[in-house]
Amino acid sequence: MSKKPWYAPRGLRFACRPGCAHCCRGEPGVVYVTRSERRRMAGHLGLEEDEFRRRHCRRVGLNRWSLRERVDGDCVFLDPHSGRCGVYQVRPSQCRSYPFWPSILADQGSWEGEKLNCPGIGRGRLFTPGEIRRLSRSADGATDDEGW
Ligand code: SF4
Ligand code: SF4
Repeated sequence: MSKKPWYAPRGLRFACRPGCAHCCRGEPGVVYVTRSERRRMAGHLGLEEDEFRRRHCRRVGLNRWSLRERVDGDCVFLDPHSGRCGVYQVRPSQCRSYPFWPSILADQGSWEGEKLNCPGIGRGRLFTPGEIRRLSRSADGATDDEGW
């Protein structure tokens, strides 16, 4: 039987603050995109997958890809004026699942510490342990690239 996570049974509160965009800005700027995510994003933008990868992605290591950043480290899809994501409906799992990443959920100290990076942590909607588990698993999947 698996051990209960530290946030069970209550769950954790989180609500993204409109216009914040802190997690889309600056270093380290690695936003992994899997092949299926690249396909979906390319389709959304009316591009072929190759063209999407050339324009908007950079290789990380041997066979993983990240969205490109601008010179200031902001994600290429962040609108610097509105602070909105230009591909919100099709954004990668890494973005969808934040802040419910395994590394941040590792223990209460990590979760509390992440508040320095994200003002939405600890506020707003209560996510159940089941919802958190599903989001956390999808974050894991975001780093399993299927190749080119
Ligand atoms: S840092 Fe948190 S509150 Fe700010 S945009 Fe990212 S998820 Fe939302
Ligand atoms: S894809 Fe959208 S949500 Fe993800 S880092 Fe870029 S601007 Fe932010």
